[in-house]
Amino acid sequence: MKFTLAMLGAIIAAFIVGAFTPETSWLITVYDLIGTLFINALKMIVIPLVMAAIIKSLMEISVKESLGALGAKTALFYTFTTFMACATGLLVINWIKPGIINGVPGAEALGLPGVGAETLEKVTGRSGGEFLNTITNIIPPNLIEAAATNQILGLIFFSILVGVFLRKMSTPAAESLKSGISGFYELILSITNAIIYLAPIGVFALIAEVAATTGLASIKPMLVFMGAVMLALGLHAFVTLILTIRLIARRSGIRHLSAMTPALLTAFSTASSSATLPVSLRCVQERSYVSKRVSSLVLPLGATINMDGTALYECAAVLFIAQAYGLDLTIAQQVLVVFLSLATSFGVAGVPAASLVAITLILGTLGLPAEAIGLIMVTDRLLDMLRTAVNIWGDSVGAVVLARLEGEEEVLSKPPEDFKVGAAA
Ligand code: ASP
Repeated sequence: MKFTLAMLGAIIAAFIVGAFTPETSWLITVYDLIGTLFINALKMIVIPLVMAAIIKSLMEISVKESLGALGAKTALFYTFTTFMACATGLLVINWIKPGIINGVPGAEALGLPGVGAETLEKVTGRSGGEFLNTITNIIPPNLIEAAATNQILGLIFFSILVGVFLRKMSTPAAESLKSGISGFYELILSITNAIIYLAPIGVFALIAEVAATTGLASIKPMLVFMGAVMLALGLHAFVTLILTIRLIARRSGIRHLSAMTPALLTAFSTASSSATLPVSLRCVQERSYVSKRVSSLVLPLGATINMDGTALYECAAVLFIAQAYGLDLTIAQQVLVVFLSLATSFGVAGVPAASLVAITLILGTLGLPAEAIGLIMVTDRLLDMLRTAVNIWGDSVGAVVLARLEGEEEVLSKPPEDFKVGAAA
């Protein structure tokens, strides 16, 4: 467990060092530089890794097997867990009522009305059209543009097409293309391993920066809301999803949790599902023993469209703001919130703070002022780190469950081994 320990050590050390770094220190620039280099390296590798992994896993499935069944099961499973996440978020916020302060709607106590124009601009500049775009861009009109603007869903679609068609081809040219793709995939894996080797340093820098720049005073009025969101995320991650592994996959959720720790810590530090994907692919394949065939398809899809933590957070945030404004949402309105959270979590990009746009959209639909988003921005980074970890955890549970449904016996059959760091896969 040396690698996991190094990651944990880096995170704890970073919180301490960060807390003692003055907000004006030049060290913050250094943290920022190292952290950005690390995230850039992960992002650099994501597109070739995802495309090569998907094409390779599909082209290697024998022609006799059916492909659609796995896809349909994946979609069904992800929708189910996201729905459970939304329900948990709603229940906890309805129960704790963080928006009610001293028995009255807390808008004033929370300073809701006056919000900086600059925060507003960041979010309201984008609109619901963005989510519609996500749907239409599933078929990317221009591949290069899709890659350049990080539209992973479109690239996944294209890779699936390539894999599915290549699978049926057996001309000499197609065969050499297949072996070329396999070689390329091995190359990308080796580079990925080298980047992961540096993760403790990158993670240290990212967390130290957050710890140094997030003031405790600004978080204070939001503590109840933060606590409620953490409780709901915890319930979903540790009760619902662990039970799902037990009941459907018939395996130990705790063992899977320990296998996934490096990926969860990376998600926590980067607050980006797509940047975490290289690490979570490796954890699921090498430490939870899920086949490449299932994980190479289920995880990239999950990192893009399955966001349990995000959907839960959207529900929680909208309900919290409604409470603070004294608006009692009816059951029908709450169902609408769940539906919108589900739908938008599908379109939210796997990058930091992405769900704020979705929350603005839902607030608008309910007739609540979008300005309220400024309030939750204060605490967003910390909760973003947590919900991203839950997003990645949900994807990995999907990989385990689907692999088991596909009859894979080896999944979680033995304790995780330490990464052979730096070694080519
Ligand atoms: N940061 C999240 C992710 O990458 C998305 C969000 O909820 O803002 O998974």
